[in-house]
Amino acid sequence: MTPRPLVIATRNAGKLKEITAVLGDDVDILSLEAYPDAPEVEEDGDTFEANALKKARTISAHTGQITLADDSGLEVYALDGAPGIHSARFAGIDASDDENNRKLLDLLHDIVEHDRSARFRCVLALVTPQGGEQTVTAAWEGRILTEPRGQHGFGYDPLFYSPAHGVTSAELPTEEKNKVSHRGKALDAAKDIVLQALTA
Ligand code: IMP
Repeated sequence: MTPRPLVIATRNAGKLKEITAVLGDDVDILSLEAYPDAPEVEEDGDTFEANALKKARTISAHTGQITLADDSGLEVYALDGAPGIHSARFAGIDASDDENNRKLLDLLHDIVEHDRSARFRCVLALVTPQGGEQTVTAAWEGRILTEPRGQHGFGYDPLFYSPAHGVTSAELPTEEKNKVSHRGKALDAAKDIVLQALTA
């Protein structure tokens, strides 16, 4: 039986690049570019999991295809977990990555290095048109620098330093980031589930 395609429910080019780097050799990936009429999904859930499931359900219902969605973000301990589920729009609706990063640096201005711990979290949700639903979650611990470093990646990558690896997330090319990141770890855990769903 020919495996079915997998729709990735994101308009975030950075996420799509990382997901494709892990799954692209084994899976026929369709991005939302193939579905210009796909609805915008309002991310009004209280958790990464609720938002990931909402995106996957909505896009699977629209496309009729098995769909993988990612909801992710940065949690800064000194900010009680902010920006969290609001990471993409931290500095306002349609805020740029630069604006979000500047707001984060402003809020942490008086916070010393050892209190700048943070983690990235990622929840992946896989939804089938038959109603099958599974989620996978992973995290990456680090801390927030006082100025950006690195040219790769997206979002908060230039400010997120991983002490375990001695680099910022933005200093890692996609394949290296995927070996250690929240999204890379979640994708590793989700890969067998995805392949099984596509060949069932
Ligand atoms: P979402 O589209 O609501 O899941 O928003 C995710 C937001 O979290 C992104 O726009 C980034 O600001 C941030 N984020 C998630 N994952 C990463 C990452 O791997 N690197 C940097 N920022 C990330």
